[in-house]
Amino acid sequence: MKIETKLLHAGIEPDSATGAIMTPIYQTSTYVQEEVGKNKGYEYSRSQNPTRHALEKNLAAIENAKFGMCFGSGLAAIDAVIKMLNFGDEVISTNDLYGGSYRIFTTIFEKYGIVFKFVDMTNIENVKSAISDKTKLIWIETPTNPMMSIIDISGISELRNKNILLGVDNTFASPYLQNPIDLGADIVMHSATKYLGGHSDVVIGALVTNDEMIAKELYRIQNSSGAVPGPQDCFLVLRGIKTLHVRMDRHCYNAKKIVNFLQSNNKVDKIYYPGLESHLNHNIAKRQMKNFGGMISFNLKEDTADAAHKVLKNTNLFSLAESLGGVESLIGHPATMTHASIPREVRIKSGITDSLIRLSIGIEDVDDLIEDLSNALI
Ligand SMILES: *Cc1c(COP(=O)(O)O)cnc(C)c1O
Repeated sequence: MKIETKLLHAGIEPDSATGAIMTPIYQTSTYVQEEVGKNKGYEYSRSQNPTRHALEKNLAAIENAKFGMCFGSGLAAIDAVIKMLNFGDEVISTNDLYGGSYRIFTTIFEKYGIVFKFVDMTNIENVKSAISDKTKLIWIETPTNPMMSIIDISGISELRNKNILLGVDNTFASPYLQNPIDLGADIVMHSATKYLGGHSDVVIGALVTNDEMIAKELYRIQNSSGAVPGPQDCFLVLRGIKTLHVRMDRHCYNAKKIVNFLQSNNKVDKIYYPGLESHLNHNIAKRQMKNFGGMISFNLKEDTADAAHKVLKNTNLFSLAESLGGVESLIGHPATMTHASIPREVRIKSGITDSLIRLSIGIEDVDDLIEDLSNALI
């Protein structure tokens, strides 16, 4: 099956009790057992829930993987991955990581003796030289947030020894544009809060893997730590996924046109968008992604937070908000919003300047979006 068909059908069957075509929301904590040890595969909803199970099967299928598991948020999914490691193990990660990922690594897991090395992964030589005999996990995000840096997934997969796990945060690309398992990743993570849900109405996370041993360990952690999503949230994501390809095509189309507009605007300085031929690693993006996504960052010639705040205040259609990947367009200021927890000098070093503005391009009419930006960039 092609992904456009899998998005709608993979792992989803009419409800066996009623024939309902949409997966019911099994709002139940427990399941009546026929006798001790005899049940229908469900005992307690932290361990298994039919609505969640349908979503987990669907997510695995659309990432070309065998096993899927859902969590209460994207960060809860990352939390489960790091809990596979032991005291003293090392993780190599990218230096312009999603702010929340940086925070859980440095303020939670460093306390438990996991060591994190942040390197510029756009050059895979930096990854190679950071590997030690204690390295147990390489954690990639591509495109990165908010600099849209592109990291060569198969390049990094090939340079590691196979005892080092490779995990990819695939939130920005979504399974429609990029499938890291096919490029050698062991674990793929999603904040399904974003493009998978697609309607800014749910916080939820997911992991998929093709490796049975990894899956067993992750199911054990999912059940033991208990950060599972409720069935209503799983239902919303199941519904969102059915239109991922249609939405994503429009996100990409609109983003391309908005980049053209930004290039012609005299207030705008640098534009970060993987579809630009001048973008670092554009050729890798072209190879590993089907299209370039709906996220754009840019900074202003007047490189101050005040200048950026003025733009944010003057948009009408673009709503000022954190998050991304919904049908409606959002505008944000990483330095004071999503990346406020990263120290200024670290932030500036990775390109997140004081005036950097991030756009999540929605699926509205693109001319209306351009007019809105044009009015704000005065
Ligand atoms: C939002 C996001 C996360 C965290 O996901 P939550 O669902 O908010 O916990 C992780 N990585 C990336 C790239 C994100 O955009």
